[in-house]
Amino acid sequence: MSKTTTDISSQTLPELYGSLVFNDKVMKERLPKDIYKAVHKTIQQGTHLELDVANTVAATMKEWAIEHGATHFTHWFQPMTGLTAEKHDSFISPQADGGIILEFSGKELVKGEPDASSFPSGGLRATFEARGYTAWDPSSPAFIKDGTLYIPTAFCSYGGESLDKKTPLLRSMDALNKSAVNVLHALGATDVTKVDTTVGSEQEYFLIDKEMYRQRKDLMMCGRTLIGAPAPKGQEMEDHYFGVLKPKVSEFMHELDRELWALGVPAKTKHNEVAPSQHELAPVFETANVAVDHNQLTMEMMKKTADKLGYACLLHEKPFEGINGSGKHNNWSLITDTGENILNPGSTPEENTHFLVFLAAVIEAVDNYADLLRISVASAGNDHRLGANEAPPAVISIFVGDDLEKMIESFENDDADYKSAGKTQMQIGAQVLPHITKDTTDRNRTSPFAFTGNKFEFRMPGSSLSVADPNIVLNTAVAESLDGIYEQLKDVPADKMDAKVHEIVKKIFVEHKRIIFNGNGYTDEWIEEAEKRGLYNLKSLPDAEPHLLDKKNVDLFVKHGIFTEAELQARYEIALENYTKSIHIESLTMQEMVKKDFTKGMVDYVNALGESAARTKEILPSAGCVYEKSVLEKIDNASGQINTLLGKLEEDTKKAEGIEDLLECAHMYHDTVLADMDELRAAVDSIEALIPDQYIPYPTYGEMLFSLR
Ligand code: ADP
Ligand code: MG
Repeated sequence: MSKTTTDISSQTLPELYGSLVFNDKVMKERLPKDIYKAVHKTIQQGTHLELDVANTVAATMKEWAIEHGATHFTHWFQPMTGLTAEKHDSFISPQADGGIILEFSGKELVKGEPDASSFPSGGLRATFEARGYTAWDPSSPAFIKDGTLYIPTAFCSYGGESLDKKTPLLRSMDALNKSAVNVLHALGATDVTKVDTTVGSEQEYFLIDKEMYRQRKDLMMCGRTLIGAPAPKGQEMEDHYFGVLKPKVSEFMHELDRELWALGVPAKTKHNEVAPSQHELAPVFETANVAVDHNQLTMEMMKKTADKLGYACLLHEKPFEGINGSGKHNNWSLITDTGENILNPGSTPEENTHFLVFLAAVIEAVDNYADLLRISVASAGNDHRLGANEAPPAVISIFVGDDLEKMIESFENDDADYKSAGKTQMQIGAQVLPHITKDTTDRNRTSPFAFTGNKFEFRMPGSSLSVADPNIVLNTAVAESLDGIYEQLKDVPADKMDAKVHEIVKKIFVEHKRIIFNGNGYTDEWIEEAEKRGLYNLKSLPDAEPHLLDKKNVDLFVKHGIFTEAELQARYEIALENYTKSIHIESLTMQEMVKKDFTKGMVDYVNALGESAARTKEILPSAGCVYEKSVLEKIDNASGQINTLLGKLEEDTKKAEGIEDLLECAHMYHDTVLADMDELRAAVDSIEALIPDQYIPYPTYGEMLFSLR
């Protein structure tokens, strides 16, 4: 028998990599030539797959999967929970003689009909139509995990509305492909037949001891701590970033890498992050769709591997107050089937022209749809990060670096003297671009959307987010800009093309320069300046989400076939529901922790202090017991305050529960319930800081953050 997940530790890296993936190599080896060609064409061009082809692929897949120890198959999909979902069916088909045969048909490969009634649909799927459909996505390879063959699929309702994150992502990649190919053809690159979106998402996470995790209801239920006094040490010494890996953490990363490599996930870089116990993993970039699937697998394997080694992996955006939260940088570019990274400035005039046009398209797209980009990363968790002087601000702007900024200015000013040393004049009137080095583009870490040499890096996504969301927006918005550019280019004769390109690019630079900002995004001055420039500053999910239904945004998605209006309405409702539910659970968890756990610690300590003072008095009647008295007094004062604040939180949460209007309810949770929680936390934390650890029935910040071996 071939390798299974259990023996991946003994394989060499080349043997191991992708060994559990039904990838192109396996298909080439195992499928008849004509079938392989048909599948390849489907993957490349998105063409329909005939049933007889699907049957052969299914039979081959089944054979391969069984050889690798699989007994089941599942359609793997990404409902609007942001997580993945799966339902396993075994290959067995019992026979009259008491034996079994193993079956897996083309129909089973291509389409599934899970009961969809318990997934969020935002009212898209009436309950009498409980069925949803899953449809095979051949562009993301099937793989084996825990004895099951996983088939990546898209998920939609009986009526064909998308109920997942993959369908709109694939639609947006298609839209961008069409628009980009049109523009490249107009620019003379007629050999290009396909443009793919590439994505590399750097993933941050925390590791803490599993036993400690289990003792904290807030971490278990909400993924973040709701109370907890800061440890004497935080991240101020800056000694964790890129620090030496502790042996057990190193073992975790090593094991995680091997699990991911077996699944064909190209895990590449690993290091300690800024906060104590915080780490990062970055993969090599892939086609957006595969990168999204692989990021989901990465998050899942992080949790599993952590659990196996006695850790809990925290993917929440802000698990601990007072130290950095976790994000997920979405590196994004475009690549042609002729192998050109279009966002690489390159060294020849044609590449420069492509770069210029696409740079302009991205700038226009981000300026016109900054609200959508903000919405694509909005969640109850990520709201704690954005604008908190550690992650990008909630205002979206683009960092282009000094070299590009100078070039953009030269366009604006028709600056014929603009020179990039030693380069020849481009025919289009601008100069050949200066060599854009990574050094000049990668310095500003405060920008939410930065050009980093040959790609854009969107730094707002939260660590637990599905990266499908921001990429759907980016792809669609850029497709829209490219369509506008194509309209202006399509009838221009070749000899006038360069001048026209120059004119278009200049116009976009001039009209959209307000979105470009190279300074420090964390300062108050920038927030003021951004307001003057008319940029959005959507601070929270309830502030941002209604813009999803703004006419310009509905028009964009409908025009490019990404979402129907009904699908957008559903997503709007689901986002608000997820938000209010998250904070509701947080509020209830906090109330319980304060009432049951914190109070117990406080009472125990008060008793101990009182007893100790009484005994001291017995032995030493003249004793003042000054410390005991002062602590008891502080606790007594604070407990009154805690009681009042707890009552207010309870009451306001009940009020919020009763609000029917979704948006009004979300605002109530944001403006009132979260504010109550902050106040209560401050009061509780001030007392926790006075109580010795042994009385507190859950691990403290110091224990959680500094105990990793
Ligand atoms: P850092 O941001 O830590 O300096 P890099 O810039 O080298 O590191 O890469 C960060 C991420 O960007 C990696 O996941 C890498 O694969 C990805 N990346 C690099 N080139 C591209 C590209 N053309 N398209 C999408 N992602 C890319
Ligand atoms: Mg980065």
